[in-house]
Amino acid sequence: MASPAEEMEALRQQVLNCTDCELARTRTHVVFGEGNPCAKVVLVGEGPGGWEDRTGRPFVGRAGKLLDVALREAGLKREELYITNVVKCRAASEVGERLRNRPPRAAEVRACRKWLEAQLRILKPKVLVCIGGPAASLLIHKGFKMTEERGKWFRDTPYAPLAIAVLHPAYVLRQDGEDFLRARELLIEDLRKVREQSEDH
Ligand code: SF4
Repeated sequence: MASPAEEMEALRQQVLNCTDCELARTRTHVVFGEGNPCAKVVLVGEGPGGWEDRTGRPFVGRAGKLLDVALREAGLKREELYITNVVKCRAASEVGERLRNRPPRAAEVRACRKWLEAQLRILKPKVLVCIGGPAASLLIHKGFKMTEERGKWFRDTPYAPLAIAVLHPAYVLRQDGEDFLRARELLIEDLRKVREQSEDH
């Protein structure tokens, strides 16, 4: 029987060649996801941005750097986790010669969902962390409200026995002054809850 690492690599090879939606047209790299294929904790964001598209790695731009700091402050090690996104290619609109990030469209999310589901079948996370509202709406429940439901535990969810949503670091970066500090602290606080749960499982 193939190990989780072998299964994940076989899946990665398939996804690298995927052209099942419009996003294949403007992408530079498919951003499959990375980390420990046996991770207890799996983080899922909405989709790659410009830096991720250039490097083929998830969460490496400004938002990724903030996520790294928040993970560290919460006592989590990125290399022990698995990090991926709902869609694997950058969603961007052509504005003149340039590409501008935009949220993935419903049809793109539908087309890519099979890949995320295949990853989650291999990973079997104990704790699923949705980074931002769109991932939470897809993986915890439809119509997820970040203002009311962020930082709360959800049990026996479709993809993991425990799931939580945290603020997206890109959202945190869009805040100013006190609001930025408060949002940053909330992100760290929620990730601390993730660390505590992961130690119990
Ligand atoms: Fe394929 Fe997903 Fe990329 Fe669309 S976003 S081309 S479905 S890998």
